[in-house]
This record gives sequence, C-alpha cells and structure tokens, in this order.
Amino acid sequence: MAALPGRTDVVVVGGGIAGVAAAYFLAVAGRDVLLIEREPQLALHTTGRSAAIYLAHYGGPANQRLTVASRAFLSDPPAGLCDHPVLTARPFVMFAPPGEEATIDELHDEVSRLAEVERLDRAATLALAPYLRPEAVGAAFLEPGAQDIDVTGLHQGFVRGARAAGAVIARSAGLVGLVRVGDDTWTVTTDRGSVGCAVVVDAAGPWGDEVARMAGAAPVGLVPMRRTACTVTVPPVPPEGPMVATVGPGFYAKPESGGLMLVSPADETPSDPCDARPEEIDVARALDAMDAATTLGARHVTRAWAGLRTFAPDRDPVIGWDDAVPGFCWMVGQGGTGIQTAPAAGRLLADIVTKTVRSELGPERLRVSSSCR
Ligand SMILES: Cc1cc2nc3c(=O)[nH]c(=O)nc-3n(C[C@H](O)[C@H](O)[C@H](O)COP(=O)(O)OP(=O)(O)OC[C@H]3O[C@@H](n4cnc5c(N)ncnc54)[C@H](O)[C@@H]3O)c2cc1C
Repeated sequence: MAALPGRTDVVVVGGGIAGVAAAYFLAVAGRDVLLIEREPQLALHTTGRSAAIYLAHYGGPANQRLTVASRAFLSDPPAGLCDHPVLTARPFVMFAPPGEEATIDELHDEVSRLAEVERLDRAATLALAPYLRPEAVGAAFLEPGAQDIDVTGLHQGFVRGARAAGAVIARSAGLVGLVRVGDDTWTVTTDRGSVGCAVVVDAAGPWGDEVARMAGAAPVGLVPMRRTACTVTVPPVPPEGPMVATVGPGFYAKPESGGLMLVSPADETPSDPCDARPEEIDVARALDAMDAATTLGARHVTRAWAGLRTFAPDRDPVIGWDDAVPGFCWMVGQGGTGIQTAPAAGRLLADIVTKTVRSELGPERLRVSSSCR
C-alpha cells in the first residue's frame, strides 16, 4: 500500500475516471499529486458501471465540446499509456416509430453539426439491425463514427501515466476532514492519516457535494441519478453490430460477444449518493421495451447493475475553482458522458489549476477554456 506523503501540491479526492484523469494531467504538468480513494479498489462506482460508448452528440453543448476535444487522445493515447486501443468502431443507430420521423430529422440536423451522420429509412435501418420490428421503425439516423470505449484500459492508462509522472494513488483512504490552515494550505484528513496541500480537487462523483461541505464550500446541488443496465442472452447477433436506441424513453441495446446483449431502459431515478443497486422493475422495463421493438426475445438476464450518473442543476459539468473557497477546485457533474469527456476534462482541470487562473466558470457553469478547443 502506497504511503501517504506529509505534504503535496494537490490532493485529488476520488479514484473514478474524473479523478484519475485529473491526477494524470496534473502530474504530467509537474505538480506533486496525491489521489485518495475511499474504496479498496478504484473505479468501483459509476466508472465501473458504464455502457462504455463514445457518442459525439451526447449531452449538452459543454459535454459535446469536451467529447469532441477528447477524441484525439482516445484514438491515439500517449505512448506507453494503454496496452490496447481505447476505441473500437461501434456504429450507433437512433430510431423512432412511424409518426415520429420529424424528431429524427431534427436530431439528424443537430447531430450533423458535430459528427458524420446519415439519415436512414426503414429498409436501411433494418438492413443494419435486422432484429428490429418493422412496425417499430419509422425513421432513423446512423452515427458511423461512434465507438466502444475500453473503460478499464483508459482508467488504468491514466493511473499508470499518473504514477509514472510521480503521482501517489492511495486506496482505502477516504476523506474525512478538510481544514484550511492560513492562506494557502489545506490539512486533509483521511482514513490513513493527514496530508498538507495547496489545492484540493473534488472528483468524488455522486459524493461531490459532501466533499464540498467538508471544505466549507456551498454545494452546487448535484443530483445522482440511478441508471440500470443488464446483459441478456439473445439469439446470435453479430457482436460488432450497431448499438440501437429509441428516441426518448424506451431502451438502448448493444451487442456483446458470446450471444449477449447489453440493455438499458435509459432510466434516471434521483438517488442519494450510495453503492447503487438495480431495481427489478427497471430491468423488467428494459426487457419489455426491447421486446416491443425487437424480435430478439431476450431469454435470460446474466447480470444486472446500476450506477449513479450525477448532474448539476443545469446538467453541465462543473470544472473549476470554487467562487468562495480558495484552493478548492470542482471536477464533478459528469452525468452520462464522464468516460468520453475524461481526457479533455482532465486537461482542462490541470490547465485551470496550474495556471492558477480563475476558471471563468464559477461553480455553476462550465465554460470550456481555449485549452480544450
Ligand atoms: C449505466 C450507465 C451507463 C453509462 N454509459 C456511459 C457511456 O457510455 N459513456 C460515458 O462517457 N459515460 C457513461 N456513463 C457515465 C459515466 O460512467 C460517469 O460520468 C463517470 O463514470 C463519472 O466518473 P466519476 O469519476 O465522476 O465518478 P465515480 O466513478 O463515481 O468516482 C467517484 C469516486 O469518488 C470516491 N469518493 C467519494 N467520496 C469520497 C471520499 N470522501 N474520499 C475518497 N473518495 C471518495 C468514490 O468512492 C468513487 O470511487 C454511464 C453511467 C451509467 C451508470
């Protein structure tokens, strides 16, 4: 187990994708970094529970900009960081039932400003996903550049790169107290001892507001939202086939190897920060929606899980200095795009901390800095 240093430049709280990306970019920028994670293993919470997809159009404008700005890093990570490619092609098809073609047209126009997209009629949609029921498809669009993300590989790459640049990563080291001493020092108390530092980065995901309260910062009003996913056995579907999703409420599904399909009801249920568990009703909803739109006849749920996608009230990521508490930097509110935005978000965070400029964001709103363009 890594020993805690007595003093460091930056303490990053949280070992999910946001925390390790921040630690990596800060360490590479020459800062002494200690990352503290409460759990005995990293990526145990939301990061370990995602659908692992890169969609350029997903989320609001700030998420989209961070996503697009992350593409180069994800496609070609720095040498030695990841053993395998982080991205693998996974076309994405969004479809709507007959009568809702106009919604697809609107979305198509919106998405085409960010990524290559192709409008599909019913026949072209069924050619890509023959298991969709013809009566469930009025129109669709294809995002051919969508990708699967090797989340474990990316997370471990950030950890490896951060350590190589001198960062210390401490597990089973939950933050239990934060005290500002003088003008420029925090005393950070953890389950494993205390550390002094100049800057605390709050990358605690669903617990982001709890950490802020410890620092005496006003919470931003984060709302963790439970999302459910499961894998089900299905008749053979090419594992490299497209991910399909309904417009609006319904489901999304992604083929996996071994005759499995990942399915989610795309639910959003407000929750306290916790170790989220799937509810049977949400799994049943996913299967019902999939049955209504496909002929797959899902047979057996092999695994079900849930994670907390955490949103600020305006659903933008919150990255930057707190308005009122010096030396306290937010890195929260990643919502449903925390994996695909991690490289640009981590770089932005490090840029903000190392240049010691105000983030232009305040705690309420992200304005992506020039480093991200
Ligand atoms: C079903 C589902 C599907 C998703 N699909 C996608 C997708 O396809 N693409 C995508 O980009 N995103 C997706 N997401 C969203 C993505 O997973 C999240 O945005 C991302 O994982 C958030 O990472 P994080 O590091 O902020 O939070 P977390 O991974 O939750 O990490 C926060 C960490 O902080 C630690 N912590 C909390 N309090 C303390 C404390 N006091 N002391 C020390 N440590 C503490 C926690 O233990 C935890 O490890 C999905 C999410 C879900 C649930």
